[in-house]
Amino acid sequence: MWRSCVSRGLRKAKTAASASRLFSTGSSYTVVDHTYDAVVVGAGGAGLRAAIGLSEHGFNTACITKLFPTRSHTVAAQGGINAALGNMTEDDWRWHMYDTVKGSDWLGDQDSIQYMCREAPKAVIELENYGLPFSRTEDGKIYQRAFGGQSLDFGKGGQAYRCACAADRTGHAMLHTLYGQAMKHNTQFFVEYFALDLLMDNEGTCQGVIALNMEDGTLHRFRATNTILATGGYGRAYFSATSAHTCTGDGNAMVARAGLPLQDLEFVQFHPTGIYGAGCLITEGSRGEGGILRNSEGERFMERYAPTAKDLASRDVVSRSMTMEIREGRGVGPLKDHIYLHLNHLPPEVLKERLPGISETAAIFAGVDVMKEPIPVLPTVHYNMGGIPTNYHGEVVHIKGDDPDAVVPGLMAAGEAACASVHGEKQKPLEKGTGEKTIAWLDRLRNANGSLPTSKIRLNMQRVMQNNAAVFRTQEILEEGCELISKAWKSFHDVKISDRSLIWNSDLIETIELENLLINACITMHSAEARKESRGAHAREDYTTRDDEKWMKHSLGYWENEKVKLAYRPVHMHTLDDGVEPFPPKARVY
Ligand SMILES: Cc1cc2nc3c(=O)[nH]c(=O)nc-3n(C[C@H](O)[C@H](O)[C@H](O)COP(=O)(O)OP(=O)(O)OC[C@H]3O[C@@H](n4cnc5c(N)ncnc54)[C@H](O)[C@@H]3O)c2cc1C
Repeated sequence: MWRSCVSRGLRKAKTAASASRLFSTGSSYTVVDHTYDAVVVGAGGAGLRAAIGLSEHGFNTACITKLFPTRSHTVAAQGGINAALGNMTEDDWRWHMYDTVKGSDWLGDQDSIQYMCREAPKAVIELENYGLPFSRTEDGKIYQRAFGGQSLDFGKGGQAYRCACAADRTGHAMLHTLYGQAMKHNTQFFVEYFALDLLMDNEGTCQGVIALNMEDGTLHRFRATNTILATGGYGRAYFSATSAHTCTGDGNAMVARAGLPLQDLEFVQFHPTGIYGAGCLITEGSRGEGGILRNSEGERFMERYAPTAKDLASRDVVSRSMTMEIREGRGVGPLKDHIYLHLNHLPPEVLKERLPGISETAAIFAGVDVMKEPIPVLPTVHYNMGGIPTNYHGEVVHIKGDDPDAVVPGLMAAGEAACASVHGEKQKPLEKGTGEKTIAWLDRLRNANGSLPTSKIRLNMQRVMQNNAAVFRTQEILEEGCELISKAWKSFHDVKISDRSLIWNSDLIETIELENLLINACITMHSAEARKESRGAHAREDYTTRDDEKWMKHSLGYWENEKVKLAYRPVHMHTLDDGVEPFPPKARVY
């Protein structure tokens, strides 16, 4: 029996009427129903901003999050936010747009990039007004540091100082500020609720999500006119990543299970400076403040690879250069397998004022005093450039008939002004049995009694991704990767869970997260194998050049019958209006 309750005004769903439903396995699950105008999944920077905008405009909004909001990975962001505020030098959002189009190696949709760069200064000022404690210049403006891949005057005017920051703890400051705003606007939080699946009707409209309350094991169907996924990346598909252990691509996997595609997953950003061994991030801001990379010969090798931008070339360029140095025997340490980042020539006040967080991180995780010694670093998985395809409004898109930009009704993915196109239509009731498939899946996993513990399958997957979808790729390595990752997927059928309860079952949660990671990993590997060119972060040793004729298109990876199916959609080469002309493709040098 299902019983419904509308949770308007209820702080905790636990207090709502509940009912149970029996399964043939003998398990019983309590299912609680809620109705909202909008439901946001995720309470990091993206989810909180979306939730604030919706609540502020009077929409009845639920924000579901598996973590307490201020523990979201956004809290770890260090370096800052790029926006052409022009506080340090003259600046222009069109220059920022040029850098972003170039940074994407012409795979980014130019209308979306225009929108982002044009709106960025407003977004930063808005954060300032919300109370974000930015670092300041002498005359009280928001301080902006140099960051990789940023230039003035369409690449001709030298390094830009565009990255607004709060010392090296920008994400921490941002997340706490946004959480405060969400409280002010009475967003309804469902904290430590784990979203399992989208609720899709037979016509392909998203009607909400189904989530598990991890505290008491109750299930919750959130019906909403608009569902906004803001669930972050899936860095943890790799062995060494700067991202938190909670970055498991759950929203991506929910989309894939709903039969919708994931876009450009082969583009995985490696950050040049993860601490050797531990993988924790040393922000690019450290190079922005004057830090330098050196090889075993003490050489500042980036001068050879990127004569103009040097240590501040785009991240993929610096990561590849470091890998080349190590391969050619000029790595540092006993195994010659990493590189040194020197900050010890910087004035102590700069380290204290602008980089206090990483000084601490380097001491704890590398045992290094940055005032005296270099930090041992290595390129480490940092950011997933691919994900759920959206247009610049944030609406999720897919291919429908001959429309490559068809909008999925009711579904958005976070980032760009997600509240703008939300409106309060009347909601259709849920079809009978909505969510049952998900509950059956959950029940199957909870009772999984194979021979392999979750941690073992996870480690295997992480090793495969680390070895076979790394900074440099070849056909042979990627083909082997496809084979190994589908083996890892198959081994998941033999997973063993030892905790059968529904109260704080971290064994079960980690297993669901592993399944989600595996789906992301499989699509990443297959998309990379198929793309026979080098573009941006996807560097092939057997196809060393960019091939615009064949490959200037987005990869779409579908998850069908436990296999990856690929399709492609065109890149938007047009801009929004005549405020700026599209940037035609050219060689990407720094
Ligand atoms: C160490 C580090 C430093 C970085 N530094 C910078 C920087 O200086 N500048 C910059 O621009 N970018 C930086 N990045 C990238 C940037 O911080 C992230 O891409 C961004 O913060 C992601 O925000 P988000 O809101 O999308 O996701 P997250 O902050 O990861 O939040 C995800 C949210 O989704 C929720 N969630 C996930 N799955 C579920 C589920 N199944 N059910 C319910 N809730 C779920 C989580 O609880 C969480 O609230 C950095 C990244 C890292 C890892």
